[in-house]
Amino acid sequence: MLTGLILLLGLVLAVAALLLLGFGTKSEGPAEAVARVLEVLPRTQCRKCGYAGCEPYAAALADGRASIERCLPGGEPVAAALAALLGQERPRDIAWHEPPHIVIDENACIGCARCLVVCPVDAILGAPRQLHAILADWCTGCALCVPVCPVDCILAGSALPDRQTWRWPMPRWPGPSLPGQLR
Ligand code: SF4
Ligand code: SF4
Ligand code: SF4
Repeated sequence: MLTGLILLLGLVLAVAALLLLGFGTKSEGPAEAVARVLEVLPRTQCRKCGYAGCEPYAAALADGRASIERCLPGGEPVAAALAALLGQERPRDIAWHEPPHIVIDENACIGCARCLVVCPVDAILGAPRQLHAILADWCTGCALCVPVCPVDCILAGSALPDRQTWRWPMPRWPGPSLPGQLR
């Protein structure tokens, strides 16, 4: 009788140990699938894919609602990794573009700090009523900061002056008007 009880107890403990060690029939749920896709994405939250961030895009990929070539900053390597992960063909004949170079025109910035709050990677330095600047090494070129600037002083790509278009800013006369001078 005692031997039977010991054997039964041993059997129960063995089954419990197997379940705890994951030898059951548990399959991957939606959250795990999204997490695995998310690991492949750059996670800069730039929204170039057309979704509100990397996680919504990962969710759309995981349940087959999105195509794998939408992550522009990830480019070909990310598309290839997604293809392997999701069992799809690698996208071909896609012209991946370098992200634009973004700078702040320091002569025009009024220090409103609106750009600070929209940058998803904290690449903008500044404080209220102070000149703001962009850390080139951190900036992903997403251009999310460009439309929020009230004085249009955040310049992207072709809007940047080159050797033909750059000019010295017009100097301002600091003192009172000279006789006959137009203000
Ligand atoms: S384009 Fe790529 S990095 Fe940007 S939000 Fe979408 S998934 Fe994230
Ligand atoms: S500085 Fe502007 S362009 Fe660069 S990452 Fe931040 S929001 Fe995007
Ligand atoms: S939004 Fe424009 S004006 Fe305001 S701090 Fe940024 S760069 Fe300067």
